[in-house]
Amino acid sequence: MRRAIRPWSYRPDARSTWSATAERLVLSSDSGNPDTAKFVGEKLAALQLGLMSLIVQKFGGSSLADAASVKRVARRIVDTKLAGHQVVVVVSAMGDTTDELLDLAEQVSPNPPARELDMLLTSGERISMALVAMAISDLGADARSYTGSQAGLITDSAHGAARIIDVTPGRIQEALADGAIPIVAGFQGVAQDTKDITTLGRGGSDTTAVALAAALDASVCEIYTDVDGVYSADPRVVPLARQVPLVTYEEMLELAAVGAKVLHLRCVEYARRFDLPIHVRSSFSDREGTFVMSPAAIAAAVAEGRAMEQPIISGVAADINDAKITVVGVPDKPGRAAVIFRALADAGINVDMIVQNVSAASTGRTDVTFTCPQGVAQKATKALEKEQGAIGFESLLSDDQIAKVSLVGAGMRSHPGVSATFFSALAEAGINVEMISTSEIRISIVTRVDDAKRAVQALHTAFGLDAAGEAVVYGGTGR
Ligand code: ASP
Ligand code: MG
Repeated sequence: MRRAIRPWSYRPDARSTWSATAERLVLSSDSGNPDTAKFVGEKLAALQLGLMSLIVQKFGGSSLADAASVKRVARRIVDTKLAGHQVVVVVSAMGDTTDELLDLAEQVSPNPPARELDMLLTSGERISMALVAMAISDLGADARSYTGSQAGLITDSAHGAARIIDVTPGRIQEALADGAIPIVAGFQGVAQDTKDITTLGRGGSDTTAVALAAALDASVCEIYTDVDGVYSADPRVVPLARQVPLVTYEEMLELAAVGAKVLHLRCVEYARRFDLPIHVRSSFSDREGTFVMSPAAIAAAVAEGRAMEQPIISGVAADINDAKITVVGVPDKPGRAAVIFRALADAGINVDMIVQNVSAASTGRTDVTFTCPQGVAQKATKALEKEQGAIGFESLLSDDQIAKVSLVGAGMRSHPGVSATFFSALAEAGINVEMISTSEIRISIVTRVDDAKRAVQALHTAFGLDAAGEAVVYGGTGR
């Protein structure tokens, strides 16, 4: 994989691990021992040729379910090191540990302080990091575990959903220069202002891994999970889903936003910002997984014969977690939509699709329909009821029996006829379309939740995505 060139302005005081390693090697070659000098000479040549790369490997909870899995993961890490790479490891909590800790907190207190909840949850990743380090040590390699704070993951102080604002991985670089394998607890950091321990939000270990990889100028961030990469559809819904070898950051962001839960949304945004390739793959097999890269990096890989041309469509996904709210009988006058969406924004509600119908000539009124996450639908209707006077609507309808079905593909930018195939496929399957929205690389519709599975299957087939054989699912959650 080609190393992305990125400016060091991100952290101007950082010296790359590469130059730190080279410097250390030169220093140790002054020892006068000819064997050391030869070894150092070879290592330096490898460094210069770019043969030795720095790889960040992240292992999710499903890859670290029990002691046997921890040992299996340790073996894989050591093998990567023996293949001549520098390795930095990021781990999630074992299996369902995070959920169990949340349950425990709930039993102790109905409303735990956010600071204490974060302190509790970060312990899950600490268990993993120490166990992985022990297992690696048994294999004869040097491993050192670090909390997020020790690894230099500096965040804001938004407990439970902290954002990374800086990465200062000095201790990780030192460990690498010593030839050790650093094992970092994912999903956590330390707040710059309060110095309290924070968590990055559920699934946040992916983001830890990408942030560290960017700060260390790694050549790739490998995310190990329990599926063989990104699929053209959820293999549990479409058995003939195919594994997609390459997707762009934009496609991955669209897929993640519409319910393909393989990667944390924020981790993809982060990787795009630093042009860092992500390799999503299974820790249960040696197969190559899915590379998430920039369109330029993909074009280069295709031009050099390292990859096949990307298909027009990369995937179909369904999201069943939204609700549809209709504001019935809104007077067709300037400013009414503004009041509706201001009220929702003030209530902190993220609105997705919006549709306004043409007003009926007889009444001068129209319906405005939008979707939002089911969890906040009640909050949304409450916020609108409060403004009923200002908006002047007649009634509100809330419907959570809907699904959003989306088709994603970077190729739809330049290929005509995608919409025609899309709607014909749905029509043939007898699926009613209630709302439509599009981006440059996505078409989404809202339909009945009971029709979602059939819609995904029909689209998957219509766009020629069905694979010859059934996908292998290792029985997990895709985390
Ligand atoms: N253990 C955390 C969670 O379950 C973070 C992660 O898995 O990435 O959300
Ligand atoms: Mg987890």
